[in-house]
Parts: sequence; C-alpha cells; structure tokens
Amino acid sequence: MPSTLLIGAGISGLTVVRELTKKGHTVTILDKGRGVGGRLATRRIDRSRVDHGTQYFTAQSPEFQAFVETLLLEGIAGIWPVTDSVDAPLHYVGDNGMSAIAKYMAQLVNVKMGERVIRLEKITHEGGNGWRAICESGNTFEASNLLITIPAPQVLTLLRDSNIGADEVDMAALEAIRYAPCIVVMAVLNKPSHIPSPGVARPTQSPVVWVADNYQKGISPNQTSVTIQADAAFSQTHFEDDPMTVGQILLDQLTDLIPPADILTYQVHRWRYSLTEVRHPEPFLKANTPALLLFGGDGFGSGNVEGAFLSGLAMGEAVSR
Ligand SMILES: Cc1cc2nc3c(=O)[nH]c(=O)nc-3n(C[C@H](O)[C@H](O)[C@H](O)COP(=O)(O)OP(=O)(O)OC[C@H]3O[C@@H](n4cnc5c(N)ncnc54)[C@H](O)[C@@H]3O)c2cc1C
Repeated sequence: MPSTLLIGAGISGLTVVRELTKKGHTVTILDKGRGVGGRLATRRIDRSRVDHGTQYFTAQSPEFQAFVETLLLEGIAGIWPVTDSVDAPLHYVGDNGMSAIAKYMAQLVNVKMGERVIRLEKITHEGGNGWRAICESGNTFEASNLLITIPAPQVLTLLRDSNIGADEVDMAALEAIRYAPCIVVMAVLNKPSHIPSPGVARPTQSPVVWVADNYQKGISPNQTSVTIQADAAFSQTHFEDDPMTVGQILLDQLTDLIPPADILTYQVHRWRYSLTEVRHPEPFLKANTPALLLFGGDGFGSGNVEGAFLSGLAMGEAVSR
C-alpha cells in the first residue's frame, strides 16, 4: 500500500489520517503547531480555559452527524443551548474546549508536531513517484502520496517556494479561495460576566461581532473568561497594529457586558485565516502530478468545521480508492 504524507493536523487532516489508518495505510502527519487542532483552538490563561478559534459547530450531513454522535457518546462534545432562531441547528462544542476534539481524533495517530514544511520536492520513492517535505527544523519526510490541508494562501506560498511546476497544479483554483482575518480577545474576569444566558452576545454595531462567556459555555468551570471576535473589516485594518492596544479598543466597546474593573488580564490572538469567504466548490482538488497530490480543508466544499471534516473524508476515500 502506498505511504501518505499529510500536512496540517486540523480537523480536515485528522479526519483523513483516521480514515486511512483504519484502512491500514501508513500516514505521517506534519504540523507546525505545538498542539493538534489548528483552528479548533483552546488556550489556558490563569485558571480559565478559552476557545479562541472555532466557537461551535453544527452538523447537517449524515456523515458528520454520525461523527458528532460518537463525540457525544464519548463525552468529548456537548450541546450549547444557543438558539438564534426557532429552527436553529444544534450548536456543538468540545466539553473541555474545542482542542479536546482534535486531541481525541489524534489518538493512535502518528502526528509530528513542531514541523513547519517550507519546501516540497518530487522524488522517486519505493520504486515509483513520490514526494519529499522539507521542514524548517531540517527534518525531511518522504512518501508516495502527499495531502495538504493548510489554508490555500499558505499552500500557494509553499508551492511557489518549491520546485513544482505551476502547470501541474491548478494555481488559479487555489488563488480564488479567500479567507477573512479575525482578531480575537481573550479576557479573564474575577466576576461573572454580564453576558446573558447561555453566554453569547452578538453586538450589531461594528467592530465586535461575537462575545462568548466560556464559563457559561461550560468549558471553563474554575474561572470566567470571555472570547471577543472583531469583524473582518476591523481585523483587516488593525491586523498589524499593536495587539494589546487593539484588544483594549475592542474591550472598550463592551463595558456593559464586561466591566473594566472585573478584567484580571487579557490576551489577543490574530488569525490571518479564520472563516472562508470564497471556497473551491469541490471537497478537494487533485493536482495533475505523476505522484498523487491533493489539496483540501475548509477552503473546499461547504467550509467551516463540518466542511473541513467532509473534505478530509473525501480525500481519504480518494486515496484509498
Ligand atoms: C476565530 C475563528 C472562529 C471560527 N468560528 C467557527 C465557528 O463558530 N464554527 C465553525 O464551524 N467554524 C468556525 N471557524 C472555522 C473553523 O475553525 C475552520 O473551518 C476549521 O477548523 C478548519 O479546519 P482545517 O483542518 O481545514 O484547517 P486548520 O484548522 O487551519 O488546520 C491546518 C493546520 O495546518 C497547519 N499548518 C499550516 N501551515 C503549515 C506548514 N507550512 N507546515 C506544517 N503545518 C502547517 C496549522 O498549524 C494547522 O494546524 C472559526 C475559525 C476561527 C479562526
């Protein structure tokens, strides 16, 4: 069975690797981060836990619903009773934060963390065509198949830095995929917040679009923390500004929900790629290369957590076909 190298241990990559491992494939997954999950991200600050990437996810497809059912049964995910409308879909969250879902998925999987891939090479591998990934650490990894599930703009940088002919990869399709940036503030409080139950506020005036109370959400039982998201326009304009100054501007919009005197500390995270604005219509893209090269993730198909999962599932099927 041909070996597979996968770049990106977000939900999309973890889905591929789980599917392929079940079918007996040898898969190595590389990620530049310290922990698995990518944008399924949870941070510890003081005694609190803060989801600073994905806030919740919904499940529309039977495939993802089946996976979510397993997460619920295993006690990895739960339901956050947020109802935006009468027919709003259920909002699912990680019981101990979003990153717990990624950690659960990464069990028994060969993930190499702290490996930022900076260049790709075509090679002869196991008597056929294959790929070599060269990491910033100096480590190299080789396999017959290569699957990439990192955001499309980062793929383009990687391809341009590598010795891969543009005509073999549909660069135009990758260039069309667009992401919005998002500046996120994580604040720890010494008192309950004034965010109404069940812990969500959606200010209608720019620049804040989302405020969540991680205590009410159930992921931070020991201390109240809140997650604040800025809208795309504000995030774009202020992306390179001093993060703490930008964070203070956002906090200043919310004094009724989060009184300044109650804030113990805050941190700011800048996501250059948060939600997709334009996606490739198919769940993945296959390059016209002698050795198998697939691109997937939330930039393909239906987007968000569910779309990234479905992209991973489709890539796994394509490899094992
Ligand atoms: C602030 C924010 C809020 C969001 N809210 C929601 C929400 O409420 N609901 C929802 O459904 N979705 C939400 N999303 C979107 C959701 O998080 C993503 O759609 C989904 O997690 C994407 O998964 P992925 O596997 O495609 O990519 P990612 O999770 O981005 O995984 C890609 C991985 O690739 C790694 N990587 C990148 N470059 C390299 C490299 N060169 N070498 C090695 N590794 C590399 C990264 O470290 C990362 O772990 C939100 C995202 C953000 C940022």
